[in-house]
Amino acid sequence: MSKDIISLRTIKGVGPKYLEIFEANGLYTVNDLLLRFPSKYDFYEPEDLRSIKDYAHACLVGTVISPPLRSVFKKNLSMTSFNIDVSGQVIHVIFFNRVYIGFSLKAGHQVKVYGKYNIFKKEFIAANVFPDLSENHIDLSYKLEGIPDKTIQKIVLYGIDEGLKAEEYLPKVLLDSHHLLNINEMIKVLHNPKDSNDVKVAQERFKYEEILNFFIKLEYYQSKKKKISRTPIVYNKDLLREVAKTLPFELTADQKTTINEICKSFLSPVPMNRLVQGDVGSGKTIVALMAALACASARFQTVMMAPTEILAEQHFEYFKNILAPFGIRIALYTGSTPKGVRGQIKKDIKAGLIDILIGTHALYYDKMEYFNLGLAIIDEQQRFGVSARNSLLDQKEGIDALYLTATPIPRTLALSLFSDLEISTIKTTRPTKKPVQTKILSLVNVSSVLKHLKEEIKRGHQAYFVVSAIESDDEARIDIKDVVALLEMQCPGVRIGELNGRMKDSEKNQVMAKFKAKEYDVLVSTTVIEVGISVDNATMMVVMDAQNFGLSQLHQLRGRIGRGDLEGYCYLLSNDVDIERLKTLERTNDGFILAEDDLKFRGPGDYFGMRQSGLPSFVYADFTKDLSDFRRIHSEAKRLQEVREIYPDVEKYLSKIISNLEIKENLN
Ligand code: ADP
Ligand code: MG
Repeated sequence: MSKDIISLRTIKGVGPKYLEIFEANGLYTVNDLLLRFPSKYDFYEPEDLRSIKDYAHACLVGTVISPPLRSVFKKNLSMTSFNIDVSGQVIHVIFFNRVYIGFSLKAGHQVKVYGKYNIFKKEFIAANVFPDLSENHIDLSYKLEGIPDKTIQKIVLYGIDEGLKAEEYLPKVLLDSHHLLNINEMIKVLHNPKDSNDVKVAQERFKYEEILNFFIKLEYYQSKKKKISRTPIVYNKDLLREVAKTLPFELTADQKTTINEICKSFLSPVPMNRLVQGDVGSGKTIVALMAALACASARFQTVMMAPTEILAEQHFEYFKNILAPFGIRIALYTGSTPKGVRGQIKKDIKAGLIDILIGTHALYYDKMEYFNLGLAIIDEQQRFGVSARNSLLDQKEGIDALYLTATPIPRTLALSLFSDLEISTIKTTRPTKKPVQTKILSLVNVSSVLKHLKEEIKRGHQAYFVVSAIESDDEARIDIKDVVALLEMQCPGVRIGELNGRMKDSEKNQVMAKFKAKEYDVLVSTTVIEVGISVDNATMMVVMDAQNFGLSQLHQLRGRIGRGDLEGYCYLLSNDVDIERLKTLERTNDGFILAEDDLKFRGPGDYFGMRQSGLPSFVYADFTKDLSDFRRIHSEAKRLQEVREIYPDVEKYLSKIISNLEIKENLN
């Protein structure tokens, strides 16, 4: 008789250590494990020698032509080398340890090797050697750290042998019309494939399921959001024009369009939910300022939140300079604001004596009562988690929301994910903004960078050095201390400021103020300077260990320079061979292109906190590669709602997905 459920506790070989790992991953039964698919497969399918790139991972099949030679270096380190013939070319293969493999290598035998190939030396450093070609060589990777993949596979196959089955829950109409494998066929293949094509077909089914479930959940969340109405925000157009006239620059076409779009939303009877995406330095702050001004002119208050105190302070000064002459009352509210002042601000906000309140997280840590809050602006929105954003927005029902970001998502993606989000894009850069010249250099060339640094300092300019670690025990990783030591040695007399995320906000502000006042030539910092900071006199940005950063992040960093009329230079120093990714930065200054590239490497991550809202990250589906599938399946997900009464299994499927969500919500 076949079994229905097998607990992982009853499996031989699964001890307390493995159990703990399984359970930490929500896996309690072999049945759970059936649906936990490998996230990666290595097929070791041999390639054509001519198509292999220098030093890329590759798999080759050849004939052994020289008997293996073994050299022992020390107790646990030996090297085996032999020659193989691959389509007439002799290639020298080397592998380390695993002495036993050497014994089965005989001249004349076929062998498969996997590793890195050095074209110029015709040398192959093998990570894997397979002397027996009759065996299937497929490595599955379940990404359950601490448990060998083979062990997991064995448990699953045992379960399948014992007759464990999963219940099909996708509606039959969909399985049929898309020729998708049924769930149990898929399970068998994904845990024990014959070849890569096998996997592709099975993954197709799971991908479909992932995307469909995703949209069903998304629709559910969106339908739950109440459509609230509010009284229109009738602003004073003339005041906006008047203020614009006092600016030291002309607004660009995109800035004007964006401001108009925002104003139009103000006049509508439903709250605005708008993302303004524009590259670093494209001038989003002035757009936010105009929005806040419009609100103030209609007697609504605005709250604006920035991710760091430095940035909040900068915005405060910026707003005050432009708006104070027009009688707009602005206040700054951060963790460093003295207690007494904070109390006064709270009173004034409640009494309606402040029009625009600018600050940091402190804005929602301390409960604030507003006189008439109309608009919440969130700067650098990608830096905030969903709960931070909601905490700010939830202070009052039905307020308008404006998000600013320099890490855009491609429009198509945004629209398919956030149908109720309006998007404004600022694309044109200001005419005065010169593109920053970017160079990727190996760390050994640091002296040429320091030479350039000295020249810039001689001209009275300043520079940033950014590291990925405050302090690091890892010899290979450069930290603040290392950079300071380097500068002191190679550029004596240079005045150095240090900044890191662990410092108190007041300390950070002090260092920043000194840098602004040109009391330092160089600021050595972690990525705390990533967002928003504006020091026009800084012309150089040097990023150490650049491989540790995302492309959008590096782009943000270099956005810190070339802000005034001065030429900007960005050096990305890295010792990593995997430098391809960084090259995009040399080629383009377009944040949108970089965001798409980042998306390819990292996935959409938790843009707008999709993860926190219970939506899954995907195992096989991929936003960038499968965008057309996403669109197609999105419309199918909508259609399903219409036919749920006709097909009982559609109804069953939809209620299953939704009830799972509701259970999760109740637990939270
Ligand atoms: P970001 O979009 O990165 O937040 P900011 O709003 O900080 O960019 O703008 C960067 C700089 O450009 C600021 O000094 C701002 O005053 C200036 N700026 C904004 N709009 C214009 C414009 N239309 N013409 C010239 N300078 C502008
Ligand atoms: Mg900004």
